[in-house]
Amino acid sequence: MSLRPRQQWGTIPFEPESYGRSVLGAPLEVWKPSGGCRTLIFAGIHGEEAETTFALSRALRQLDGPSPHCAVVLAANPDGSIRGTRGNAHGVELNRNFPTSDWQSALVPHRSTLDDPRDVLLSPGPQPGSEPEVQALLALIRELKPEVVISLHAPLACIDDANQSALGRWLAERTGMPFVTDVGYPTPGSFGTWGKENGVPVVTYEFPLASTDALVREHVPVLVELLTRTDG
Ligand SMILES: [Zn+2]
Repeated sequence: MSLRPRQQWGTIPFEPESYGRSVLGAPLEVWKPSGGCRTLIFAGIHGEEAETTFALSRALRQLDGPSPHCAVVLAANPDGSIRGTRGNAHGVELNRNFPTSDWQSALVPHRSTLDDPRDVLLSPGPQPGSEPEVQALLALIRELKPEVVISLHAPLACIDDANQSALGRWLAERTGMPFVTDVGYPTPGSFGTWGKENGVPVVTYEFPLASTDALVREHVPVLVELLTRTDG
């Protein structure tokens, strides 16, 4: 496949499919690959990490058609995106709502900014897997059967890959960010833990704290390479 000239980067080159609905009824959209799905990459499961959606969209808009092997979800939590909240419209931290053996009902702390203590509290949901955005994402993974799922976040500036995969190592090398196998604090009910328990390799790609321009310069080319790879 080839890349579109800059004049055409304003629009996404092909139509998505809907894989479900959010709490507020927004479509959950996936841009499927032209060939077999080897990689699923999703952004925006935390609605306040809008830069992940923007950067992945900018990469997708450079393609002249579907990725050969990569399925793309630009906004895994559209209600959080339109409201600018970390959680969904129920106020649930979706990345603690996955059905895992370590799921906990305790409120989930997170930081307001990188310098703040972890003292903002969100619900992990009334029960594991209670939220439609989580249910739909898991159904999409069961349907597409990707070999690896990449989850985009910000702003911890690392590649987190418990499986120490070649793809994770490539991303760390390509982005110059540290390669880690653990984010350093417990994440019960997270997507990464769900992946570990269900044999689905997960790579968490954490953008650095940076301006949109810096992210476009440094990370969009990496995402374009990912989307255009024909070997995986
Ligand atoms: Zn996040």
